[in-house]
Amino acid sequence: MNLVLLGPPGAGKGTQAKLLEDSRSLVKLSTGDMLRAAVAAGTELGRKAGDIMERGELVPDDLVIKLIAERIDAKGGVKGFILDGFPRTIAQAEALDRLLKERHKRLDRVIVMEVDDDALVERIAGRFACADCGEGYHDLYKMPKVPGVCDRCGGTQFVRRRDDNEAVVRSRLKAYHAQTEPLIDYYTRQGKVRAVDGMADIATVQEEIDQALESAGA
Ligand code: AMP
Repeated sequence: MNLVLLGPPGAGKGTQAKLLEDSRSLVKLSTGDMLRAAVAAGTELGRKAGDIMERGELVPDDLVIKLIAERIDAKGGVKGFILDGFPRTIAQAEALDRLLKERHKRLDRVIVMEVDDDALVERIAGRFACADCGEGYHDLYKMPKVPGVCDRCGGTQFVRRRDDNEAVVRSRLKAYHAQTEPLIDYYTRQGKVRAVDGMADIATVQEEIDQALESAGA
């Protein structure tokens, strides 16, 4: 089963992608994570993408399409993929359709996570993650059980994303509405969309996604 998690920044795509990865033995592919790794490693891609990401704008389609194609090919034998943060434009969605078809794969479901913009700014401004395993936390909603120690791996270093501040979040939301939201129509025409209420708590959203996937026969 291959699925796309679609929704604005802060909707909880990364959190749910991780849960799905564990519960369904699928592989999460996040273009945001890949690009941040490229920036941290100082690669040519990282140099091209870094400034664009700091402004909250979208990295050019050809760069992210190449990244995703390489990753899908590298993990060819897996049960399926959860795409988190890709596609983000119609051109990316069309490229994904082509590249899955060429590899005799298909996209089974597109889960749209619905959240309102004001809630997103608050959610994003408080989030941070374990530097070792990437487990996500939030100043208001999910602090580590033992202060300063990651629940998942025991790590003691935490990081905040550079683009998780209000001004950049507003620009990321603008990019979402202008360039990514049209994908909901694109995939609705393919009969693949199921919407879930991204404002609910993590476990409830997880249940809703599970139901949406069962109805895909997956
Ligand atoms: P994310 O972690 O998904 O919120 O992505 C962080 C940033 O990486 C975005 O604000 C974009 O600048 C860039 N990015 C991630 N995925 C894509 C994509 N599919 N297309 C264009 N830019 C992307």
